[in-house]
Amino acid sequence: MSDHEDLRPDTRVVTAGRRPEWTAGVVNTPVWRASTILYDDVAHLRASGAADTHHRPFYGRRGTPTQWSLADALTSLEPGAEGTFLYPSGVAAIAACLMAVLSPGDELLVPDSAYDPTRSMATGLLKRFGIAARFYDPLVGAGIAELIGPTTRAIFMESPGSLTFEVQDVPAIVAVAKARGIATILDNTWATPLFFPAIAKCVDYSILACTKYVVGHSDVMLGSVTAGPGRFAALRDTSFQLGQVTSPDDAWLGSRGLRTMSVRLRQHQASALEIAHWLDARPEVSRVLHPALPSCPGHGIFARDFLGSSGLFSFALNGGDERARAALIDTLDHFGIGYSWGGYESLALPIDPARYRTATRPDFAGSLVRLQIGLEDPADLIADLERGLAVFRATQG
Ligand SMILES: *Cc1c(COP(=O)(O)O)cnc(C)c1O
Repeated sequence: MSDHEDLRPDTRVVTAGRRPEWTAGVVNTPVWRASTILYDDVAHLRASGAADTHHRPFYGRRGTPTQWSLADALTSLEPGAEGTFLYPSGVAAIAACLMAVLSPGDELLVPDSAYDPTRSMATGLLKRFGIAARFYDPLVGAGIAELIGPTTRAIFMESPGSLTFEVQDVPAIVAVAKARGIATILDNTWATPLFFPAIAKCVDYSILACTKYVVGHSDVMLGSVTAGPGRFAALRDTSFQLGQVTSPDDAWLGSRGLRTMSVRLRQHQASALEIAHWLDARPEVSRVLHPALPSCPGHGIFARDFLGSSGLFSFALNGGDERARAALIDTLDHFGIGYSWGGYESLALPIDPARYRTATRPDFAGSLVRLQIGLEDPADLIADLERGLAVFRATQG
């Protein structure tokens, strides 16, 4: 358990993970690069080898103060959490968490709105190891009870979905799962613990693609899993057995990003809301999929459960074909065209979620564009989008 839980989240973002024995007199925990750890004598070598070694130097694969500092800080951001393990990417974090929880013969429930690599993991790797996956309507809420079978061992959630932004009723799903001893796992990348403290809401495992808002600068791949009470040992043991380790340089950049995450998120939130409302009033736009807007599926749950919204949302175009959508995106000067999100710069991406769905048919008419709203002045972004929509109209003919 963290000793920072009495502090407010913005203060925790600044202070967490900076233990004096790790920072050794400077502000930030330095980059400790190590494979070999040298011991004073054989007695110390023997004492360090215990299986539960964590936060004690043992061997480079088990990390150094640089990685422990970031892990510790992420634990502090999730009140009630037991511990955090870091991974070289968000996808690696999801894989390790699922392997920690599931065994051959088990079934996993996955929302139909899940990030595509999560789907591929369920239908590929997990299937190969004898674990079944069933896809469910992300808006099912307490109705998840009817989908649970005798072998269901874990329920995966992603709220909101990172393409179509359905907000899930996490408390209702967790209540059903808890009553049946089923583990719950949430991909919390969009909200981060600052806008959705998942462990406090009794989720067992809260996953972040730290690549996004924690790093915040589009230059590092990093993931984390934060475990709730009684859940850390299984995660840590599986992760050790998988040989998972992050580079200290990447972890250091993650910590560097984390210190400004709350102020960045507030700006992402304000700018994204301004742009989402502007788009909502445009005739070329049929629907804005932003959890804070009533047009988003699950908006009521968002309003009930979340402390804020971040900078990623989608919108559907009124008519238009592939060529018109591409013309819109190609016209934008301030939006890069690329995967990922959560950095300081804006991005635009054509998305086609219907291609992946198997359990539900999303009823979003028109083609979709996903926007990551960065830290530029929103007036410049709106002017850019206005030009893009004019080209869309012209291309649509
Ligand atoms: C990007 C992303 C991931 C994967 O993170 P990587 O660091 O790119 O592997 C997982 N979940 C969501 C919702 C994401 O957007």
